[in-house]
Amino acid sequence: MDASICKDAAVQALIVSALEGKLIDEQAERLAQLDDALIKLVLLAAARRIAELEGKLGAAGKIDPATPSGQRPVYTKPAAPKRKGKPGAKKGHVGRSRPTPQRVDQRKEHRLDRCPCCGGELQRCNRTRTRTIEDILEDLRTVVTEHTVHRDYCPACKKHVEPVVPDALPNAKIGHRTVALSAWLHYGVGVSISQVQELLGGQFQTHLSSGGLVAAWQRMAAIFEPWYVRIAEMARASAVLHADETGWRMNGQTWWLWCFANRTCCYYLIDPSRGGPALEKFFAEAFDGVLITDFWPAYNAFATERQCCLVHLLRELEKVDQHNGSAEWQAFAKKLRRLLRDGIRLRKRPDFSPQRYASRIVRIDRRLRELAEAAYVDADASRLAKRLRRHTDELFTFLDHPDVTFDNNLAERMIRPPVILRKTSQSNRSEKGAAVQAVLMSIYRTLKLRGHNPLATIVSALLTYLTDGHLPPLPIESVADG
Ligand SMILES: [Zn+2]
Repeated sequence: MDASICKDAAVQALIVSALEGKLIDEQAERLAQLDDALIKLVLLAAARRIAELEGKLGAAGKIDPATPSGQRPVYTKPAAPKRKGKPGAKKGHVGRSRPTPQRVDQRKEHRLDRCPCCGGELQRCNRTRTRTIEDILEDLRTVVTEHTVHRDYCPACKKHVEPVVPDALPNAKIGHRTVALSAWLHYGVGVSISQVQELLGGQFQTHLSSGGLVAAWQRMAAIFEPWYVRIAEMARASAVLHADETGWRMNGQTWWLWCFANRTCCYYLIDPSRGGPALEKFFAEAFDGVLITDFWPAYNAFATERQCCLVHLLRELEKVDQHNGSAEWQAFAKKLRRLLRDGIRLRKRPDFSPQRYASRIVRIDRRLRELAEAAYVDADASRLAKRLRRHTDELFTFLDHPDVTFDNNLAERMIRPPVILRKTSQSNRSEKGAAVQAVLMSIYRTLKLRGHNPLATIVSALLTYLTDGHLPPLPIESVADG
């Protein structure tokens, strides 16, 4: 799990390098360890880029005049005659959406046996409509399917009825796999929208517009909202939960991205508040389990039991060390370090259990109280001692609960991929965009934590949603990988 998160973070740089032709040895090595689908996408995008560049060279005079027009790169062809008048349809004309692809690879018929409303027999009619859906297959080939939908008449209901085409959302012209793959690239991996277009674009006959992608992701997020709600419920009900927050840009303002995570759940919330209001939205009331956080005071009111991250505390000691050489500080820092190290070592003993080492734990607790309650002249020692007093019961919780860690690494790892996305995509421009982002990131991350292939899971859930009319439950942890 650890490796997969770091992998996602590195993918961004790899894709950019590959597309710019700057992939170095070490990056190629890393690329080779990624998901098959992603490797293929990067290679195809790179191949297309090469063809494009060769096309440009050809235009400079290297192209064989005997090459048939159809095999020539478009760059070498003369420019089309200049368009007369304004682009776009005349006023009053019907609007146009995504153009229908020229090629049809397969045809499918859809016809109801019985009326979906009353179950009665239907009178066969000759009414049909066709719908073209373009999608990416598992091997990344694209397939254009023309669906013929029969509309028959139900005498009981006195209306025409037609079956649902489960391959794409109503009125959508791209299939589930394309929607799921593009959303995973963007929200799961951190690839920017223009890079998603570039990676997938070469596969498609028709252009994937950024507006079309965003609209598809919004519909997807609306459908999967119940899973997002479920992830929050499960996180709130868990015995151990990590929390962390980081700055986020929302339409030019500073918002906060919150992350609540454990081994099987990862829930993101994008909110204008960095304090109580956001936590209240998530927790509603106090959390019953152990909450693992840094020393940010906003969490105080919500956790009955808490573990503050010891790595944060150790980092703080190092920071002070750099500017404070006073003997009192040195002695304080040395004692505190030794105390923390002793606690961590105790926990790491193979035979550790809170019962077996009860007296050792009591001794550690006593040392902490002594260190916290002593009087200090040094400003840093005094400030840190105050922090120890405030968090006396929140530093060694991991010795009472073996499933609690002494660091907040899990939440920090979970918050890293969106931070990478923040750098490439300037966070969100609207509250709706922020909500979509939070829903889809939570779902991708949680599916991954539970050992499921996010793509396959999303595609099959969308099929079920359209076939049965409701979303299947959020998958539990996979036995094979979990
Ligand atoms: Zn009927």
